[in-house]
Amino acid sequence: MTASGTRTPDRVALDELGEWQRALRAQFPIITGHPGLAYLDSAATAQKPRAVLDAVHDYLTTSNANAGRGTYPWANRTTDLVARGRDRIKRFLDDPAPERSAVHFTSGTTEGLRTLARDWLPRFLADGDEIVVPVADHRANIEPWLEARRLLAAQGVHVGVRPMPYQRDSGDYDHTALAELAGPRTRFVAVTHVHHVYGGDMNVHRIRRAVGDDAVICLDAAQSVGHLPVSVAGLDVDFVVFSGHKAMALPGTGAVWARQVRGPEFVPGGWSGTPNTVGVASLTAALDWLDAAGTDRIERWTAALAARLTDRLRHLDGYEILGCRTSLAADSPVQQRRGIVTFRHREISSGDLGFLLYSHGFMVRSDSHCQGSAGEQTDSVRVSLHVYNTADEIDRLLTVLASVG
Ligand code: PLP
Repeated sequence: MTASGTRTPDRVALDELGEWQRALRAQFPIITGHPGLAYLDSAATAQKPRAVLDAVHDYLTTSNANAGRGTYPWANRTTDLVARGRDRIKRFLDDPAPERSAVHFTSGTTEGLRTLARDWLPRFLADGDEIVVPVADHRANIEPWLEARRLLAAQGVHVGVRPMPYQRDSGDYDHTALAELAGPRTRFVAVTHVHHVYGGDMNVHRIRRAVGDDAVICLDAAQSVGHLPVSVAGLDVDFVVFSGHKAMALPGTGAVWARQVRGPEFVPGGWSGTPNTVGVASLTAALDWLDAAGTDRIERWTAALAARLTDRLRHLDGYEILGCRTSLAADSPVQQRRGIVTFRHREISSGDLGFLLYSHGFMVRSDSHCQGSAGEQTDSVRVSLHVYNTADEIDRLLTVLASVG
């Protein structure tokens, strides 16, 4: 309750969605099987609901074969599975023109971005073109573009790299500064949907206006797919790259979605060999599960938990919360914080804090989070949430943090 007696939006969300959330949490065997532990590291990888575990078991015990090769029933079923997996991703992303777009399976976001940088970007860029690189985002969304530039330079094609401008206080992109630096030679812009350290929604819907109609926009959706609705009908981006394992599928899964409107067609190069068929089975089941659960409700739930944590943590002595400080509430018009809260203690190292938290059963990540060189210079503790997390876990975490503060 606030001083005026009204309930805060995050409190309303937690009350309204409580029953729904309890039913979903019960579907995660690893969570219910470890009542003394709290998994707060879903930005690294998400836990899997029983439906995904069952889909994996079903596939391996009824149809396991190679795809696109044999002609007997198990092989045909596997070939269909991979084709249906592509369609499922298009539907999950609310693709308005699925007959034109393409989906390529990868082992995760890193491999997806590298594939684009290796197989597509060099065909698109010409001498004197410029690319914008988000230098304070995840290194997976920085290194591949710099590598592509190096390889092109070795062939005599010189491409300029413009560091993405950021707003100092929030960690959001500076869309005004981006509009100023983008010119007619700005051909490719790499962006991130939700920042993996600051937890902020990066307002990527503003990028198109800043960079103009012709530039290709590539979206790293590692922290948004599976956590909130991602609609390519609404977002004017050309590529969406994500990790299936962060969206409740098996490790070693992910995909690149390509709109195929700007630039050459995206055709992954080389002979890719046997696909990760069981991974595709798990990803299809995970997307079914997420759609049934409702990504809009998952987004509301995790944002409410994050708001509960930030609202109280910022009043605890000794702690500094990273990212936007004026958007801590779930209803902030400034910048929405999703289910990630990262902080550090002014005197206790983040490594020590991570160990201490685990001694109380909390699994968090404490390091530099693979952030690019323009990011934080000091390690921090990241709490990242998913639908199986509860307000009680947040409250217990706050009690421990208060006791060391
Ligand atoms: N991009 C972002 C924003 C991430 O958070 C991560 C992983 O944490 C990655 C890329 C890399 O994902 P993966 O390790 O699944 O390739």
